[in-house]
Amino acid sequence: MNLVGSLQKASDFLDRHEVPSPRLDAELLLCHITSLSRMDLYLNYDRPLLETETDRYRDLLVRRAKRVPLQLLTGTAYFRGLELKVEPGVFIPRPETEVLVERALEAADILGDLGPLRVLDLGTGCGPIALSFAGERPEARVVATDVDPRSLETARENVLALGLEDRVRLVKSDLFKEIGDPDSYHLVVSNPPYVAAEEYSRLPPEVAEHEPKGALWGGEDGLDVIREIIRDAPGFLEEGGFLLLEVGETQAESVVGLMESTQLLESPMAFGDLAGKKRVVRARRQSG
Ligand code: GLN
Repeated sequence: MNLVGSLQKASDFLDRHEVPSPRLDAELLLCHITSLSRMDLYLNYDRPLLETETDRYRDLLVRRAKRVPLQLLTGTAYFRGLELKVEPGVFIPRPETEVLVERALEAADILGDLGPLRVLDLGTGCGPIALSFAGERPEARVVATDVDPRSLETARENVLALGLEDRVRLVKSDLFKEIGDPDSYHLVVSNPPYVAAEEYSRLPPEVAEHEPKGALWGGEDGLDVIREIIRDAPGFLEEGGFLLLEVGETQAESVVGLMESTQLLESPMAFGDLAGKKRVVRARRQSG
């Protein structure tokens, strides 16, 4: 069968299995096994699929129909233009976290030229926040933590692949516990686990069955980890430094409230994403 015929069959198959965006996923998996771009698929629509390719394609489609995330099938996720390696057991970078990076870059602009900008990324996963920040800010020195060794190993491969090993240091740490040097960061940034119990039961199978619970589960109200970060962050921030957190769709107000009730943080505010949902909350370490 040729490329276009295989694609149509694949797309129908995923559709029958109620996979969201079946056509797109069928295309991306076909690109993955043929090493062609999406444009090339159509330019070469008549090219026959080799038998080995057909077998691999079928295998990937069956796994996608079982709702294995596309990124785990291709081993790749894209984040702010970076191509990042992902693996089973490691949280897959989400587009919404790109907004957190944008707000962190903006906070860095507010701080102005301080020389090397020290940034702490808590719970880095495969490294999207740390790597995009370091890639976009040559003056940044980022410490990126995770409690999970597999995530750190994947992050390490991404750091090396992007040649950022001089400016991104990985540390195995449960939040701040293993960080050392308090008072030394200009920015503390995190996409922490924040899914609440009731919401967890409604996660799509891609997330619930194939992504690490430790990167998602935030306790009964989803705010357990966020509370801990807000409690400890002031001790690790320079005066005037910023704490920025990604939060769930309904959490911004509560998180602003938690920051307000912390003596050492000031001017907490929530920022909307393109759809107007408040997904990033920021506060500043008091100075003086
Ligand atoms: N936005 C993610 C999801 O719903 C949750 C991410 C997180 O807990 N940090 O899949």
